[in-house]
Amino acid sequence: MQDKIYIIGHKSPDLDSVAGAICYAELKNKLENTDKYIAAMAGEVNEETAYILNKSSFAKPEVITDASQKNIILIDHNEFVQAADGMAEANIIEVLDHHKVDFKYSNPIAFKVLPWGASCTIVAHGYLSSNVAVTKEMATLMLSAILVDTVITKSPTCTEFDKAVIEKLSQIAQIADWKDFGMEIFKVRSNVSKLSDEDIIKSDFKDFNLAAGKFGIGQVETVDLKDFANREEGLLAQLDKMRANGAYHSVILFLTDIINEGSLFLVSSSDEEKVSEALGSKLENNRVYIPGILSRKKQVAPKFNEVFDK
Ligand code: MG
Ligand code: MG
Ligand code: MG
Repeated sequence: MQDKIYIIGHKSPDLDSVAGAICYAELKNKLENTDKYIAAMAGEVNEETAYILNKSSFAKPEVITDASQKNIILIDHNEFVQAADGMAEANIIEVLDHHKVDFKYSNPIAFKVLPWGASCTIVAHGYLSSNVAVTKEMATLMLSAILVDTVITKSPTCTEFDKAVIEKLSQIAQIADWKDFGMEIFKVRSNVSKLSDEDIIKSDFKDFNLAAGKFGIGQVETVDLKDFANREEGLLAQLDKMRANGAYHSVILFLTDIINEGSLFLVSSSDEEKVSEALGSKLENNRVYIPGILSRKKQVAPKFNEVFDK
């Protein structure tokens, strides 16, 4: 194995996993006075990640499609089913994450999981607690990821500590109004007109292995659900295709209206009744709108665990 250590987020990389990899690599390199930590990604960036990298003038991290035989730090995930291919044969030396834990490993490693709103909150805490200077660009990058992951602090995953870090990073980034900045990012995220149905579904998509089978759950946050009204049938057809091709029990996309704070679920499933049970709302024509749902991690995935993982 080479000396390099790749810091890499989950497949279908989101802003938090990419920004987290870049900023954590920088922090580790500075703390250890080295350049062996390298930010990486398990796939191509999504729209808002490209927008923010461009805005804060960072290069896209390198894409790693085979993690085997590499030294790895997992960021923003800990489940092998969500990791880059070959991860079972990688040398994992650390995990930094803010999701539920489903991780087993044969060696003792640094395992940093905190119930904060974003991996970037944990990375920012690393900077602030070790007195490593945060540049304006790094602050912009981490701030943008925390704003996306916490849905501009509206998500139930957002903690008081996230809010304090948002304030602090806004000062360093010289961003006067972080709510405006958050809306600017979500407007980029909402602009799906040039994306294919598959790209929309995969822009933030996660697999979960449950006792009943494999589940895929994608989420798109938007400032206006109407933008998707004429895409619903195409998206449902694409979900069906993915379920058949990927041997899924269910493939679900939920479109979250961050202004009205609710989500429209589009579902392709081998057991719609049970999915309705997990959602707590009955599907009609493979879809249902549920007010108040903003978070996959806190409000959706746990219910699927309850119903399908026993
Ligand atoms: Mg993520
Ligand atoms: Mg995250
Ligand atoms: Mg998210």
